[in-house]
Amino acid sequence: MKFSQIPYKRVTFEEIEKKANELLKKMNDAKNVKEALDAFYEYNEFSDKISTAISMSYIKFTLNTEDDFFVTEKEYYDEIMPKIQDIDLKFKLALYNSKFKDDLKKELKDLLFLNIEISMKAFDSKIIPHMQEENRLVNEYDKLLASAQIEFDGKTLNLSQLGKYKQNTDRDIRKAAYEAEAGFYLKNGEKLDSLYDELVKIRTTMAKELGYENFVELGYYRMMRNCYTKQDVQKFRDYVKKYIVPIAMDIKNEQKERINVDKFMLYDDPLEFLSGNAVPKGEPEKIFLQGKKMYSELSSETEEFMNFMLENELFDVISRKGKAVGGYSTSLPDFKAPFVFANFNGTSGDIDVLTHEAGHAFASYLARDFKISDYRSPTLESCEIHSMSMEFFTWPWMNLFFEEQSDKYKYAHLSGALTFIPYGTIVDYFQHIVYEKPQMTPDERKQVWKDLQKEFMPYLNTDGMPFFEDGRYWQRQHHIYSSPFYYIDYCLAQTVALEYWAESQIDYKASWNKYITMTKRGGTDTFTGLVKSAGLESPFEEEALKKVAKIAREWLKDFDKDKLV
Ligand code: ZN
Repeated sequence: MKFSQIPYKRVTFEEIEKKANELLKKMNDAKNVKEALDAFYEYNEFSDKISTAISMSYIKFTLNTEDDFFVTEKEYYDEIMPKIQDIDLKFKLALYNSKFKDDLKKELKDLLFLNIEISMKAFDSKIIPHMQEENRLVNEYDKLLASAQIEFDGKTLNLSQLGKYKQNTDRDIRKAAYEAEAGFYLKNGEKLDSLYDELVKIRTTMAKELGYENFVELGYYRMMRNCYTKQDVQKFRDYVKKYIVPIAMDIKNEQKERINVDKFMLYDDPLEFLSGNAVPKGEPEKIFLQGKKMYSELSSETEEFMNFMLENELFDVISRKGKAVGGYSTSLPDFKAPFVFANFNGTSGDIDVLTHEAGHAFASYLARDFKISDYRSPTLESCEIHSMSMEFFTWPWMNLFFEEQSDKYKYAHLSGALTFIPYGTIVDYFQHIVYEKPQMTPDERKQVWKDLQKEFMPYLNTDGMPFFEDGRYWQRQHHIYSSPFYYIDYCLAQTVALEYWAESQIDYKASWNKYITMTKRGGTDTFTGLVKSAGLESPFEEEALKKVAKIAREWLKDFDKDKLV
């Protein structure tokens, strides 16, 4: 069904509660394993209906944030979400405690039961009011950022529209764009400090009420960490320092030479080449035509996927007034349809929509037939493998978008993938420190960020740049406010994506087949399980980063520098 023809109707909390209670009773009254399973499958169908309505209202809201109807719908679901989580957990607990559990375990994955255990640790109905307060604070942060109206270049721009100027070849324009951005954030500096402070406190309160020392443990459960601990993350951090930070220094030094600046400032960071960064050629219509060609040549699976997406209007990528900023991929399970939202702005980021976001959508398409919703999607670091690897698997078609600039694109993409890892690591590290010492003042938190930036990104100079030099850089990072501990996921996924990339340089077909096999497994395994079954190294083993760092460094070194002007 085409997106424009999909009807929307609110699923009320009363309806949800009534149906869920019926199914709960069915589960508890089951006389044999078949009846228990039937209740479970019926519950999955029902939860798909809820997810579809919520996704649909969210999509419609982001397509036009000035549409009062969907503003109200979004607020309604935000409000009842913790209560839905409560109901969901109650049902899952009934499954978990079923007297037919042994027989159920033969039919269902052990992982499903493990994840129920983790969900129990992450939630209790007594913290619902705190969760609602947390949602309210996050919404406030969202609204604040969306309200940005920045006068620049004779126009009124939002934060994402300003992004393009930050990679201008004229250094003064880049600097001015950063200053304009900083002006907005500084004007709201106190608000940004107090919102985060309140979030840290409310999250700490929830953790304590659930019996944890601080929010870190609860944060891990909320992210459904089912196969690694904070000690593993600490190991990963050490490997980043050992293998990636030195390479990132080299890469940034070379960039400094290339763009011909005496001192490498934060506002030089986005400009890769003196002649300008690689930009996609042509209007969005042309970009989509090329995207269609790319996916039809890549594999039969991607061809079928792309045709499905285009026939059913499942991309909305053109910026317009009222549309929310950013980009995402989501799904409408009742229609077995993914949906991709973006704002094209004429930078290489537009192509990421066709590779990264489409990578997520492709994964959701491949796993659409699992009846059990938990089997369709793995934990988030694994979802990011789908998307970040697709960015590399589509390399052979980059000339369709960037023409003579495709070498510049690939070079910047690979070096950017490496230099992203230290940044992503400190976003995560920062949160560990903050939640372990929740009593820290906003100023102490800024000092923590400054120290981490010096340790992991020593090449980045922010001297004389208000906002940035004050250790406030992280206040732009949405996840720190909205999704605690969701960031190391990108670093872990990037490592695995680089492993796929390294293999694809030697045997593309074999590497792609491994990717397809892994992606088709959806959420039926843990992150480390999926990585291992694809024959790749876990990022928690030293070998993974060591190997990709070496191969990527050589590739960059061997690159014909004449092409990089
Ligand atoms: Zn992603």
